[in-house]
Amino acid sequence: MKPAPKPGILDIQPYVGGRSHAGGAKAPIKLSSNESALGPSPAAVAAFHEAAGRLESYPEGSAHILRHAIAETFGLDPARIVCGNGSDELLTLLAHGYLRPGDEVLYSRHAFLVYRIATLANSAVPVEVPEKNLTVDVDAMLAHVTAKTRLVYLANPNNPTGSYLPHDEVRRLHAGLSPDTLLVIDAAYAEYVRRNDYEAGIELVANNANVVMTRTFSKVHGLAGLRVGWAYCPAQVADVLNRIRGPFNVSVPAQLAASAALKDTAHVEACVAHNETWRDWLTQSIRKLGLTVDDSVGNFVLIHFASKAQAAEVDAFLCERGLILRGVLAYGLPNCLRLTVGTEDANRKVVDALAQFMARR
Ligand SMILES: *Cc1c(COP(=O)(O)O)cnc(C)c1O
Repeated sequence: MKPAPKPGILDIQPYVGGRSHAGGAKAPIKLSSNESALGPSPAAVAAFHEAAGRLESYPEGSAHILRHAIAETFGLDPARIVCGNGSDELLTLLAHGYLRPGDEVLYSRHAFLVYRIATLANSAVPVEVPEKNLTVDVDAMLAHVTAKTRLVYLANPNNPTGSYLPHDEVRRLHAGLSPDTLLVIDAAYAEYVRRNDYEAGIELVANNANVVMTRTFSKVHGLAGLRVGWAYCPAQVADVLNRIRGPFNVSVPAQLAASAALKDTAHVEACVAHNETWRDWLTQSIRKLGLTVDDSVGNFVLIHFASKAQAAEVDAFLCERGLILRGVLAYGLPNCLRLTVGTEDANRKVVDALAQFMARR
């Protein structure tokens, strides 16, 4: 006899993040993790340095200052905000709080891998629903709902496809769920979306007891290394998360830097504008090389190649030139590479290298 983990846990493939090394390249350019091209706000960095003076103290456990900064920015009730060690922690805690063995969890075919991990970690059953044109298919999602469906994860926009659901489709998905099924809207890339028919999910959370929206400081705010995310929840869900989260789950530097980042709206706007310009430039430039690139509303694009072998060949070719993209085999997209929008220099280098690759064939 020996200790055995809960059913499901050994079915989990450990999450592998985007690579940060490229063979022998001295200063590789990392475009594999959807990190911010422009980095964090200088005000956030200054707040981080300031926090270095008080590392002996525990953080304020409820992230009071940060929750109030978020509440003020978005016009929300601070009591219904829960902060986490990245939004990954909150996505996982929701599963810990609500799933029983055998419960079904719906998410779309090419959704974020954390949903599967959180599901299996609770001995629940992942139900991966086919997409249409690499976009969540609400009819298909609803067709997979059963009496056992307890939780639905929706990444909106989705990573790695870059597609999104308009708000009326999100509402239609919600309307088809039982009131005791939790809909978790992961809006990690919300700040980047400039579409009239998009909403991050605040209104749905405000008006329903079974919807949660998660957000992150890792993407547009450029603080991925600090690990800060937040969830806007119905009061009862916030209560559940507050009972099971670590008592000091967001560090002092993280709370202070994130609060400062939120207030630097000029920096956020500059990041969104940079992203829009260069995402569109990358999309057009790579399409001109004869490759398929999906329309993306995030800070990354998905590039399609002729085959899995060609995607791997391009990945190696770029890597030799110090350019690190993300293979998305684990997301069920073997022929694709995901490219994060980078600095102007990085973006030009990627397109030049792709042009070289296409020309030599
Ligand atoms: C990057 C990302 C997150 C954010 O994760 P953090 O833990 O907040 O860094 C969440 N969901 C999706 C779909 C992402 O791509």
